[in-house]
Amino acid sequence: MKKSVLLLIIIFSVCNSFCQQVENIIIITTDGYRWQEVFKGMDSAIANNSKFNQGDSSYIFEKYWSNDESERRKKLMPFLWNTIASHGQIYGNRKFDNKVSNANPYWFSYPGYSEIMTGFADTSINSNEFPSNPHVTVLEFLNQQPKFKNRVAAFGAWNAFDRILNQQRSGIPVFSAFDTIGGKNPTANEKLINLMNQDSYRPFGDDECLDVFTHYAAMEYLKIKKPKVFYIAYGETDEWAHHSYYRSYLDAAHLVDKWIKEIWTFVQSDPQYKNKTAIFITTDHGRGDMKKEEWTSHGQKIADAYQIWFAAMGPGIAALGEQKNNVQYYQDQFAQTIAKLLGTTYKTGHPVSPEIKSVIKK
Ligand SMILES: [Zn+2]
Repeated sequence: MKKSVLLLIIIFSVCNSFCQQVENIIIITTDGYRWQEVFKGMDSAIANNSKFNQGDSSYIFEKYWSNDESERRKKLMPFLWNTIASHGQIYGNRKFDNKVSNANPYWFSYPGYSEIMTGFADTSINSNEFPSNPHVTVLEFLNQQPKFKNRVAAFGAWNAFDRILNQQRSGIPVFSAFDTIGGKNPTANEKLINLMNQDSYRPFGDDECLDVFTHYAAMEYLKIKKPKVFYIAYGETDEWAHHSYYRSYLDAAHLVDKWIKEIWTFVQSDPQYKNKTAIFITTDHGRGDMKKEEWTSHGQKIADAYQIWFAAMGPGIAALGEQKNNVQYYQDQFAQTIAKLLGTTYKTGHPVSPEIKSVIKK
């Protein structure tokens, strides 16, 4: 074999394992899910409190409890702790002073999602009833780039995503709450999902559907339309916490973990996505703790509700696992991190905070 050919083969195989580029990204959020459960698993003090255990602590102890913290968190989120912890990165364990926080001072949903998507903590965005987002989100920015044009979409359980992502101006399809999917020619699956969602129990009223409908609708879209930038926003973790239903809160988180595994398994089985897709998982805000029984709530008056977490995995991301160094990151850094993973720089009319460098492989 000629030396030059051999050299090319070596360069190719080295590059194949180290230089893989992220061509697609899937962003996943689960509303108001605490870092405490992410890193420590189920909290026995909450589970033992009759105000919070829905009269059945044995169910959650059987399903989610272990005396060993690392086993316990694995029981609650097995995909996060088996797969993402060994192939990706997880940030926000305050036991190690690894801190991720809201930069916005409000610690509730619209400001949090806007901060994630715009890379900017605009203090004028101070209400969940805030009108359509005046800022160009990273999703809208990516949709303006030729590489991603018309390949960006979002699914959210909460109907406020229509405004947060400014569906009207951005031109990004946003399927939220009880919106029907599939347009004029829905597939058989889409028809069934639409019917079941419309007829389902509505514990959160007309503004938010159960996560199961958002998930299956999003999966169908992912398989048929193959978006390059895809956002899925689950909501039940926040809703059940507000209900003081710890069992349902844990079940919702456990299900989100199962669905992330399902998304990843599909991604790694599909030629467009396989080894070219990153996932980025986070939450809009934290919640209080058990001391004043404030875990059910969040917002400015609840101590610690600014404390969040995030995880990422994919070909452009080093397998560094759980982060244990003393650092402080902010939610407004996520948007540029997402853009940089895709090999672009998010620039728009408002300031954008810099990316988190350790997420992006050098
Ligand atoms: Zn809430």
